[in-house]
Amino acid sequence: MVHVLDTRQLGRPGIIAATAVETSDGLILFDTGPESTFTNVADGLRKVGFEPDDVRHVFLSHIHLDHAGAAWRFAELGATTYVHPRGAPHLLDPRKLIESAKRIFGDEMDKLWGRIAPVPAERLRVIEDGEIIRVGNLEVRAIATPGHASHHHVYVWDDSVFGGDIAGVQLGGAPPVPPFVPPELDIESWLESIAKLRELQVTKLYLPHFGLARGRIEEHLDILSERIRRWSEWLRDRLREGIEVEQLKPLFAEYEAADLRAGGASTEQVADYEAADPSYMAVTAAARYWRNHQSDAKSS
Ligand SMILES: [Zn+2]
Repeated sequence: MVHVLDTRQLGRPGIIAATAVETSDGLILFDTGPESTFTNVADGLRKVGFEPDDVRHVFLSHIHLDHAGAAWRFAELGATTYVHPRGAPHLLDPRKLIESAKRIFGDEMDKLWGRIAPVPAERLRVIEDGEIIRVGNLEVRAIATPGHASHHHVYVWDDSVFGGDIAGVQLGGAPPVPPFVPPELDIESWLESIAKLRELQVTKLYLPHFGLARGRIEEHLDILSERIRRWSEWLRDRLREGIEVEQLKPLFAEYEAADLRAGGASTEQVADYEAADPSYMAVTAAARYWRNHQSDAKSS
């Protein structure tokens, strides 16, 4: 039994989910949401008959604060946290993570993410690519899926996969889009990770943004891949024309909004996408990515 819990960050429903799965050994949580919404997740758990300390295992897709911010709260209650080897140091000592988030979010930090504290070493378990963790009656397999972040995992159990951010943001019935964020955006790796997702041949895809993906997974991934290519090339071409990052931010915001509306999104949904995945981040992410891939930019 799967429960998609709405973190309702900043009071907005349907943007960031924590996904709970019942097992014969207590609950698994795939991503926790930010610390600022811990009580909302706790309330969500109670609504389906559980307490926060029934969460025994927390599998993190990656360590960005909208996904892993509350991991230490569940660790405090005794849950084991599973994370990619490159994410682990930042959970044990989040100072760098806090610094880089402060550079992006400034005074909004506390309001957006709440308190950030270390996950104690005895509650942290590094999980490698392909590794299987048995939790009661379930087997959960980690698959390294870089692209959005270098330390990203998806997790597979039965006929389901928790897709993290590599599998796109899809809100309501609107189309899936790729969350491009600095500093580790890697377009080639992202497309390779999507190929790995296709090979799984599972039937259910759960997204942190937001919930069970609609329609067939293959189709979802087709639409997502097309946007990864087109958006990254659009951004590359504008940067090659010499448009500065700051000028490009509003232009890309409009490009993305038009793309979403063409895909059937309402004005309200366009605003929700902006909340789940701010468009300005795609511009700084792409500028950095294409700076490091100069040769590709010139040859094509
Ligand atoms: Zn996210």
